[in-house]
Amino acid sequence: MKITELFESGKRTISFEFFPPNTEQGIENLFGNIPTLSKMDPDFISVTYGAGGGTRDKTIGIVRRVKEQTDLEVMCHVTCVAQTKGEVEDALNLLGPANVENVLGLRGDPGRGEDRFVPPEGGYQYASELIEHIRNNHDFAIGGACFPEGHLESPSLEADAAFLKRKVDAGAQFLVTQLFFDNDDYYRFMERTQRWGIDVPIIAGVLPILSTGQIRRFASLCGARIPGDLDAKLEQYAEDDNAVREIGIEHSSRQVEDLWRNGVAGLHFYTLNRTYSTLKVLENLNADKASAPC
Ligand SMILES: Cc1cc2nc3c(=O)[nH]c(=O)nc-3n(C[C@H](O)[C@H](O)[C@H](O)COP(=O)(O)OP(=O)(O)OC[C@H]3O[C@@H](n4cnc5c(N)ncnc54)[C@H](O)[C@@H]3O)c2cc1C
Repeated sequence: MKITELFESGKRTISFEFFPPNTEQGIENLFGNIPTLSKMDPDFISVTYGAGGGTRDKTIGIVRRVKEQTDLEVMCHVTCVAQTKGEVEDALNLLGPANVENVLGLRGDPGRGEDRFVPPEGGYQYASELIEHIRNNHDFAIGGACFPEGHLESPSLEADAAFLKRKVDAGAQFLVTQLFFDNDDYYRFMERTQRWGIDVPIIAGVLPILSTGQIRRFASLCGARIPGDLDAKLEQYAEDDNAVREIGIEHSSRQVEDLWRNGVAGLHFYTLNRTYSTLKVLENLNADKASAPC
């Protein structure tokens, strides 16, 4: 099913993101975990396209297998990194025949050791170009990325919103946000998108924190701000990953309960292939929904 059909039917989506594991055993573990995931009844899962386009074959193999062997709906990430337009087209052509109906069209990050994205010769420069190509040549539901705190390379928040509007005009039918830790950043972003006439569903990306060092690294790479009080707790328990995981569950639970009450179109969990925290956060959300006044 296309994700756009879910939104058209009034559904607010819950989705889980995975990256392709390095080893065959890792892939088997991922599929072994699917019955547990299925209990939470996600509307779809998504599989990332590794930095540098390096996991392309694995990504495509996994999404195809999800379609063949499970009842889960899936979205395949596709980036423009290190590929010509023809190579991207080859990848897209493997998805349709496997009944993959949803694609997240991305530019991708600069390769390791590079400080800015340089499109390969014969490749795409911006995600909006890829998205326009997909819209004009394929029959996928198309998503795009967005950044509540602005993309790191954008000169300003307004410029970022203007480029996002182009992405939607080029064919992005829904958007998924970068992770963020302060819902006010998301609400301010939603106000900006409204001013710019961006009217597609915007799914909030949520990452339940697993470790202090890891989240500080991720946050600095993607430009997400860790609020001072949260950062102080992470510092206090920096050597205790179990305690940090509980802090992450508590913080994400509060975040998603607030987002849900405020009408968010969907929640997309960056699971980092570790589903325990995501499932706990969802249990908390379901308990909160059950106790909310009608
Ligand atoms: C939900 C989500 C999933 C992701 N999955 C992956 C993944 O699977 N693999 C991976 O490698 N990365 C992934 N990323 C990371 C993403 O690829 C990077 O953040 C990348 O730096 C930006 O991607 P984009 O698609 O937003 O690019 P773009 O939309 O092309 O934007 C890149 C920059 O260019 C600017 N820009 C856009 N259009 C123009 C224009 N016309 N003129 C001038 N400037 C412009 C934008 O404001 C931004 O600063 C994901 C990010 C998100 C939020």
